[in-house]
Amino acid sequence: MPLPIVAIVGRPNVGKSTLVNRLSESKDSIVHDQPGITRDRTYRHAYWQDREFSVVDTGGLIFDDDTEFLPLIREQVMVALAEATVAIFVVDGQTGVTGGDEAIASWLREHSVPVLLAVNKCESPTAGLIQAAQFWELGLGNPFPISGIHGSGTGELLDELIQYLPPTEEIEEINETRVAIVGRPNVGKSSLLNAFLGENRSIVSPISGTTRDAIDTVVERNEKTYRLIDTAGIRRKKNVEYGAEFFGINRAFKAIRRADVVLLVIDAIDGVTEQDLKLANRISEEGRACVIVVNKWDTIEKDTYTILDYEREVKSRLYFMDWAKTIFVSALTGQRVEKIIDLVDQAASEHQRRVSTAVINEVIEEAVSWHSPPTTRQGKQGKIYYGTQVTSQPPTLVLFVNDPKRFNENYRRYMESQFRQQLGFIGTPIRLIWRGKP
Ligand code: GDP
Ligand code: GDP
Repeated sequence: MPLPIVAIVGRPNVGKSTLVNRLSESKDSIVHDQPGITRDRTYRHAYWQDREFSVVDTGGLIFDDDTEFLPLIREQVMVALAEATVAIFVVDGQTGVTGGDEAIASWLREHSVPVLLAVNKCESPTAGLIQAAQFWELGLGNPFPISGIHGSGTGELLDELIQYLPPTEEIEEINETRVAIVGRPNVGKSSLLNAFLGENRSIVSPISGTTRDAIDTVVERNEKTYRLIDTAGIRRKKNVEYGAEFFGINRAFKAIRRADVVLLVIDAIDGVTEQDLKLANRISEEGRACVIVVNKWDTIEKDTYTILDYEREVKSRLYFMDWAKTIFVSALTGQRVEKIIDLVDQAASEHQRRVSTAVINEVIEEAVSWHSPPTTRQGKQGKIYYGTQVTSQPPTLVLFVNDPKRFNENYRRYMESQFRQQLGFIGTPIRLIWRGKP
């Protein structure tokens, strides 16, 4: 497990970078995600008591305040949350609650990442408490009054923060693929797990998470290690009678968050249901790789075209996930169960893949030459200067443009499909961030 990541989110100028400096102290320990784009994502090594972590400040992408830039801030926050173990939401105690804060708070509440609310610029102990109290209304629990500049209050914040982080001795570089098996009750998740484990049961070691309730199962296959997330929990709960309405969607969401690759298991008899759509949405929002597993294929009457027809049906229901591969299996007979792992490997490696700036710019140049960026009614044309991949898991590309507002949805979709066609990224979502000139 690499160092857990603590994401610092918030509006511009609330004091995020000041806080990051304060938390990491040593200014020379900056680890850049990739050279040349240091302003976008800076990871800094930090520790408090016996816990180590990385702090990432995503503020570099935003230059101006509030509403106009909200969509861009949202994108940033989502990117940051996807990889974070905990988020610190920084607000400005001297300004009070703004519309921007409320918007960010509502996105944070949608997410399963724990959030600590830091009310910055609270230098005065008594006034600070009053300033901080205004932020209860954001619905994110206890506001911590702090001063990033003076350091007051940060100890209490860090004490709370490390409750969410694993002890340092549990952090080691293990090269493992984390796989979550999610789906509605009775789609065959446990059966699939059993079919997958097969004869290899002996090397199964259940590992209980410290700060979470799930139990993971670690297996080795072809000299690779896979951590199957939450599956034991699902097995344990098997004898519990699920009410018709009950669906452990929050547990599934948590498993998705911890996974590299999610197996979205669909019951061949029922097809893609509303609940499957919710899971699929969450998977793409969280930026996880995915393999769609249609189970109980043995129960379907087949002729030659059925798989194709069925796949078309699945794809059209899950159109927003057209990057994911679909496999038709039977946990009961074992048909194609072994093949799932190949798709997991492919999705995991695409999820981690990095593409050079040169290649990205070739794609942009080619795409623009076929179809130039739109011109606004005022006659102003969009221009893409260059693009670069800023992070992986999921692959995230930043496109530097003259003005993001000149690129409508259509053009953005066109660009994304060009990247898909040229770069592949099978099995993983990708993110495009359109960034204007500072
Ligand atoms: P960011 O845009 O959120 O990263 O904000 P910065 O860290 O760049 O800080 C924005 C402004 O707020 C700067 O002028 C800082 O000096 C000021 N600032 C940051 N932290 C504090 C604080 O604890 N107290 C006060 N009074 N000002 C602060
Ligand atoms: P879970 O709740 O998703 O873990 O589902 P289970 O693995 O407990 O399976 C639910 C039911 O579906 C059980 O009665 C299984 O025997 C059955 N089942 C699971 N996989 C298959 C399959 O591939 N084909 C058929 N026909 N039945 C299956």
